[in-house]
Order: sequence, then C-alpha cells, then structure tokens
Amino acid sequence: QTTLKSKVKDPYPDWKAGTPIPYAALCTTFSLIEMTSKRLVITAHCSLFLRQVLRLTPDDLLPTVLLMINKLAADYAGIELGIGESLIMKAIGESTGRSLQVIKQDQKEIGDLGLVAVKSRANQPTMFKPKPLTVRGVHKGLMDIATTSGNGAQGRKVDLIKKLLSAADGHASGKVDITKDKGGPSEAKYLVRFLEGKLRLGLAEKTVLVSLAQAMVCHETEAKGSGKVPTTEQLAQGEAILKLVHSQLPSYDVIIPAMLEHGIFNLKDNCNLQPGVPLKPMLAKPTKAITEVLDRFENQTFTCEYKYDGERAQIHYVSKDSDQKYRGPSEAATKTNNGLAAIFSRNSEDLSKKYPDILAKLNTWVKPDTKSFVLDCETVAWDLVEKKVLPFQQLMTRKKKDVKIEDVKVKVCVFAFDILFLNGEAVVSKSLRERRELLHGAFTPIEGEFAFATSMNGQELDEIQHFLDESVKASCEGLMVKMLDGTESGYEPSKRSRNWLKIKKDYLSGIGDSLDLVVLGAYYGRGKRTSVYGAFLLACYNAGTDTYETVCNIGTGFSEAVLEELHTQLKDIVIDRPKPFYSHSSGNQHQPDVWFEPKYVWEVKTADLTLSPRYKAGCKEGVDPSGEKGISLRFPRFIKVRDDKKPDEATSSRQVAEMYRKQESVSKNKGPAVDDDF
Ligand code: ATP
Repeated sequence: QTTLKSKVKDPYPDWKAGTPIPYAALCTTFSLIEMTSKRLVITAHCSLFLRQVLRLTPDDLLPTVLLMINKLAADYAGIELGIGESLIMKAIGESTGRSLQVIKQDQKEIGDLGLVAVKSRANQPTMFKPKPLTVRGVHKGLMDIATTSGNGAQGRKVDLIKKLLSAADGHASGKVDITKDKGGPSEAKYLVRFLEGKLRLGLAEKTVLVSLAQAMVCHETEAKGSGKVPTTEQLAQGEAILKLVHSQLPSYDVIIPAMLEHGIFNLKDNCNLQPGVPLKPMLAKPTKAITEVLDRFENQTFTCEYKYDGERAQIHYVSKDSDQKYRGPSEAATKTNNGLAAIFSRNSEDLSKKYPDILAKLNTWVKPDTKSFVLDCETVAWDLVEKKVLPFQQLMTRKKKDVKIEDVKVKVCVFAFDILFLNGEAVVSKSLRERRELLHGAFTPIEGEFAFATSMNGQELDEIQHFLDESVKASCEGLMVKMLDGTESGYEPSKRSRNWLKIKKDYLSGIGDSLDLVVLGAYYGRGKRTSVYGAFLLACYNAGTDTYETVCNIGTGFSEAVLEELHTQLKDIVIDRPKPFYSHSSGNQHQPDVWFEPKYVWEVKTADLTLSPRYKAGCKEGVDPSGEKGISLRFPRFIKVRDDKKPDEATSSRQVAEMYRKQESVSKNKGPAVDDDF
C-alpha cells in the first residue's frame, strides 16, 4: 500500500515520455523481482513498472505485459517459439564467437543458459555499441522467430536469435557473478530465458494480472488530480474486475486496448466473453465415494451427469446474420454453411482442423434461431453400427491436424454439457439449471452427431449409485456431480471448483483420481528393452515456485510399441543436465540416465501415495514436518499421453498434497505405507 501511494519517479535515464520502452528498463525490474521471493514485494515492483509504462508509453503496455508473462500472444493464437536448448546454444555461440563445445561445457558447469549467455557476452570485446533494445523491438523480434517456418526455418531462427543477442547488453550494471543465479539486470539473460520458456522470476501470471489492475487504478486516480491516491476498496474493485474479465476473455490483445480506452472500472461493459476467444474451462475436484459427494452438497440441490471419456471441446459459433461479432482471428475460423465457427481444446488450442466433420454438420443440430454460442462439450468416439460410445483409445487414433472429412474413420459425437454464451449474451453467471434449459432449447440432438450429456437430478445415495452403474455400462468414466441452483452453480472459468465433483469408477477405493505428470528423465532399458528407455522420472508442477517437483519413477503400463514411440519422441528433447527449475533428490543413486526438456504430460494411475526422501512433490506444502520428504506414487502405472495438457497444466503439487492428506485422513489407522523403490 505504501508503494502504491508513492509517486512514481522517472525510472530509467533513456526512457522519455512517448518513446519506446528500453528493454533494459524492463530487465532492471525483472532483476529486482528475481532478488526477492516475497509476493507483495514482487507485486509492488511489477505494478510500479506498469504505472511507469502507463504514464510514459502506454502504447507499449501490451508487449510489456506479454514479455512479463513469457508469452507472445494469447494461447488460442497458437504462436510458439519452437526452439530447443541446442538451437539457443548454437545462437549464443555464433553471436559471441565462441565454439558450441565451449558453450556446452559452460552449460554443464553453470546449468542456466541465461547465465551462459551473460558469460559469453562478458568475454566478448564490443567493437561498436549496438542500438539499444526496446520492449516492442524484442517482442517483434521474438514474434519473427516464432512465425518463421518452412524450409531452413531452424537456420533462420538461429539468425534471428543472434540478431537479438548481439544487440543485448551482457550486463547493464557492470559486474556480474555468473556462478550466482541472481546475476543482475542482464538483457541477454532474460532474452535467453524467454526463449527457453521460463523467466524464473517467481512472477506468476496471476501476479502480473493483479499488478496490472493496481497500476491501472493508481494511474486513473492520479489522472484525476495531483496527490490523489486510490482507496483500498478501489484497488480491490479494480482487481476483481480485471480478474473476472480476464477469466472470461483471456486475451490481453483485446483487454489492454479496451482498458486503455474505457478505463478499468468500465471494462466489464466493454470487454466480455465473446465467441472467437476461448476461455479456460471449469474443472472438477476428485472424490472417492458417493458419500463424500453427499457431504459436500448437504442441503443443496445437485445434478449428476455421465462423465464421457473423450476430448474436452469448446465450440464457438456466430451465424452470418447475427449482430454479434466473431472476436478471434476470423481467418482462423472455419466458414460453416451458416457462419463462422471454431473448436478449441481445454488449453485453448485450435482443434478446428482436427474436427472438420463436426463443423460440417453443425448446421444440422444448431436450431435456426440460435445465432451465436459458446458450448462446453466432450467429443467422443462413436460406434456407428452399435450406436454407442467407444473407448477413448479409439479417439486417439484420429489424426490431429489437417483431417479431411472423406478420410475420417473414427466418427465422433459431440456430448454437450454446458453453454457459456448464447445469442449475444454471456450466460456464465446464470445457475446451471437455467443454463441447461437454454442449452436444451438451442440445439436439436441428432443420433451419433450431437447429444446432451445424460443427466439425473435424484439426490439419494441409491439413485446416484444406480446412475453411476448405468454410466459405466454406457462406456463412460463415471459421473460429474454439479451444483444445480443458486449463484454457486454459475460457470467458473479456469477454476477447479468444489461446485463440480467427479467420481471415477476406477478410483472409488483409491486416491480419487489419476495424475497428469511431466516427464523429466529416463533410465535406459534392460533385457528386452535395451534399445529404448525402460523407465521414467515424472514430476508434478508447483505453480508458486514455478518448479517441477519429482513424484515417482515409472516402468509399468507401457507396451513395447508405446515404449518405442516414446523413445522416438523423447530422444529429441534430451538435455545435458537437469534444468535449474527441476526439484529432485540429489543422491547419486537417484539420478536418471538422461534428462529431458519439460514437454510431455502423461496420465498415470497409482495405488496410493506415500512419503519418500527420494522425491520432492509437495515438500513445500507441509506434508512432512521435517520438510525433507516429498510425496511419491506407489505402483504407478502409465495410462496415456495427455496431448491436451501443457507441462504447467500438469497436476499441481498442491493437488498431490491434497490427495495425500485426504488419503491419510481415511487410512489413519492402517499404519504407515511403505516407500516404493523399484
Ligand atoms: P480428467 O482426467 O478427469 O479428464 P481433467 O483435469 O482433464 O481430468 P477434470 O476437471 O478433472 O479435468 O475432469 C473433468 C473433465 O471430464 C472435463 O475436462 C471434460 O473433458 C470431461 N467431461 C466428460 N463429461 C463431462 C460432463 N458431463 N461435464 C463436465 N466435464 C465432463
């Protein structure tokens, strides 16, 4: 609060009002943030910088925010840098005149490519002073790297990285101790870390969002007259507005210009859920027993739905004759017979080219009066002969991109369970009962093409048990149980909510759910498995510290064919040593034979959870009083690759800790579980 009330001084000598922000100014803030782990201090640094941006160069607010959250554009734009460690090392070497061998050696010793870049720049005599980098220039340069494709793309990407690195200062304030992580405000360091996909500042996107709201509120209050400072209520109100708008329209490209034009307090009226911009879906909490569901929803009405085992899909549509504008990049949307439509995955990737068959049939199930909508649903493989749902594995055999309708062998049916926007209006804050009514009124079910999720509103244990059995007979995974009435039953984008519970048939006596874990390392196979990896080291994700915490070794559940496929995928992302943001026991005997970039997420089942000094999951969640032991999985078993999840969407350390605590409270009297070493 004191920082927010203080007046902003000119932050950086070369940054004058109206001029592009020097990248060095942003890097100075990054280094201040990197030097602390206190959330409030981080937020204060971040919001102070954003206030300066608003005062001096508001045109650069968007690229500044994007560089802060390590993104180039909204997720749905599908813009990815597509470069691995080896390409970055090549660029560092070539731009500083050092051999790749030396760079690799440095990386082995230092373990942070950002600092390797700093060291390389420090040793390099500067012949001429390059033109200073600017925030907008860096964003554009990185965008150019991301959008380079086609023949020889890798080489051209290296050239573009070199161009940026050559203009980057090794270290803005002179001395740097590269053996220490906190090396100071170096442009090269943060550039390289951005390229690697992890700034490692401890600056979560949520913090940037809160800082942006604070900065905007302060800026607007200041603009009203000298000496004015915002009240605590105004700050809280601004924060709530921005959080809400961002959850419904997660696109800074849309929000920031609207906020600059209309002000933060008018944002809700000017920026709302819109077809074309996918939102992060609402998620459910796991449960282990129907009685747990009844306890949770005591005295409240709830509804049960089949939990279909397919792929989450969000269908966006605007008809030709609607007043509604299609908000996303319309060139990316597919023209259906009647308008524009797109299908997005649970992490906002565009799936339209994977499901052209769904889009082609859209007009058969959309009622003529339905002019625009955003639909939450599951695409499920469908057996045309037996007229029933097929297992998830069938869906997996479909091609992922550029599917031609005439080649489709695995037919899919859309099972719709929620509606978020209808005929020009966001309906997320309506109760589920009302949304369901709207949903049922807007579409016509067509066998094998489109259906509403089967539901049942009975509140008794017997009824739920019976419905669960029926869902299993219908090849579903179990049930989703959702709050039906009242404000709590509104749709909560991006939230894993207590108002949605899942009961999976396989987990009724286990820990309640499977886990989605990131593959960090592997062990060479033995015997029959010598040409492939035989076992793997997996981790969950700690969003608070932005680290991957190891949770188990796994060698079960893989067919020979799957192991070969995984080997082919993984051998390309081998790195020389663990990333500095991997948290694993340091014991020699516990190290895998190879380490990987954090890229793939696998779904894994486990018998139960136990504490082990070998792994680090949940170490910071207070599950072990000594703080030394992490949580680990006992008898983990591979289920499938989760293509629809990015590494930072893996099961979080907090979720693992929650599962462990629940299990412990149930099995208190059973004695300690034993550690599993294989
Ligand atoms: P899971 O492994 O269970 O799919 P998840 O992390 O992807 O985990 P959860 O929120 O845990 O997502 O489970 C809900 C998922 O179940 C949704 O993402 C959706 O894909 C699927 N699903 C199937 N049927 C329904 C339904 N009727 N309502 C909501 N989600 C459903």
